[in-house]
Amino acid sequence: MRACADCSLRVEGDWKRCPLCGGDLRGAVVPSPYPAVPLRYSRRRVLRVLVLCSLGVILLSFLAQLLFRRDAEDLGALRSVWLGIATTWLVVLMAVSKRRNLAKFIVYLVAAAAAVSVYWDYLTQWSGWSVTYVVPIVCAASIAGLLITVRVIRMELADYVVYSGLTVLLGLAPIVFLALGWVGTPIPSAICGALSIAVVTLLLALRGGAVRHELATRLHL
Ligand SMILES: [Zn+2]
Repeated sequence: MRACADCSLRVEGDWKRCPLCGGDLRGAVVPSPYPAVPLRYSRRRVLRVLVLCSLGVILLSFLAQLLFRRDAEDLGALRSVWLGIATTWLVVLMAVSKRRNLAKFIVYLVAAAAAVSVYWDYLTQWSGWSVTYVVPIVCAASIAGLLITVRVIRMELADYVVYSGLTVLLGLAPIVFLALGWVGTPIPSAICGALSIAVVTLLLALRGGAVRHELATRLHL
């Protein structure tokens, strides 16, 4: 059996480093005592759902252009929806590759997108496009990515509670911008807020008992 050079912990299974302190492991590898759990989803199905959702959003953006702003010269506002597609892909691909850090990744992603776009907006004579479009789109797309992840990859119930809390916080941020009067057009913020509230309501309606139980366990109530 291998042992940690730093803390002397004895380790079974194929750990690369000591699971306790991160130190180097020495000695002969012993097989893990736990059975290997196979993945419960198919990558092909994840990709199919993603591609269909993306094509749908792109089609809708062209349709919206055709119906509402036929003679508008700028394509910017409606095409910025494509940013959402990129975000959704990032969230789901991240979930597929490293499922444990997903919540942290989404917080970083939204914070980075918000910071970069707000700074860019500030540099190019503030017109509010960052808080009007980019932040709500990235938030809503993260929620969509989470929904696809929970539905297609079938996450554990314990993960739902953390993610739903995160979903509320992310989705409600644009509503705060709206209340503060920072946004030019209320539609993106309103859609994002409505999506977030709908997801939380749905989660509580479908799995309310389990969510309360999980919260009580985590908060030691
Ligand atoms: Zn150690």
